[in-house]
Amino acid sequence: MKTCGIIGGMSWESTLTYYKIINEEINKKLGSLHSAKIILYSVDFEEIAAQQREGNWQGSAEILSTAAKSLEKAGADFALIATNTMHKVADEVKKAVNIPLLDIRDAVIEKIKKDNIKKVLLLGTKFTMEDDFYKNYLQKSGIEVEVPNEKDRDLIHKVIFNELCLGITKNSSKENFLNIIEKSSADGVILGCTEIGLLIKKEDTDKKIYDTTEIHAKKAVQLML
Ligand code: GLU
Repeated sequence: MKTCGIIGGMSWESTLTYYKIINEEINKKLGSLHSAKIILYSVDFEEIAAQQREGNWQGSAEILSTAAKSLEKAGADFALIATNTMHKVADEVKKAVNIPLLDIRDAVIEKIKKDNIKKVLLLGTKFTMEDDFYKNYLQKSGIEVEVPNEKDRDLIHKVIFNELCLGITKNSSKENFLNIIEKSSADGVILGCTEIGLLIKKEDTDKKIYDTTEIHAKKAVQLML
């Protein structure tokens, strides 16, 4: 089994989900008492979130590159960044190490293509929904991407940072998210923030749900085996 390096803590609520899924999947595949070889570098999310607010992406790229180098030194065979938003600096992190970085966007694209879904609604932080690093990456691979209107983007962003990253799930927020999903014309919905899966489940809607945390974690298991 290969060792998976996780750059986590953004937020730790969703890193827990990665840890759980990767271990469960390894055990499902290998049986007996098998569990996952994981090295976790968990950051202080407030430092990262403050840099996001200030637009200091270079600072965050440096923190995440240091984390990736530590994982490489500690023996990780590959690494992943357990957040969608921070893939804004994925290129810098990839350049900082010799081990591969398992990009969350590639994992999601692979899954969407397999299902032959042409158009998706992208939900995530404002950085993920509004900046180019995510939308363009998907569009380049031929997937049409829709994002919610400005008011809905504001709401989603606030729920992520003020509730989900603190482990708070409210029924009112779930209803708001489902309304946003239902009014979209897309066939698929990317839960493009690793905490949204704490609020929205596949069975909540008829649309095809792409939970980036689950997809990314399961892809990591494929690489490990
Ligand atoms: N975990 C979230 C994501 O997947 C948001 C936290 C962050 O800004 O990294 O984008």
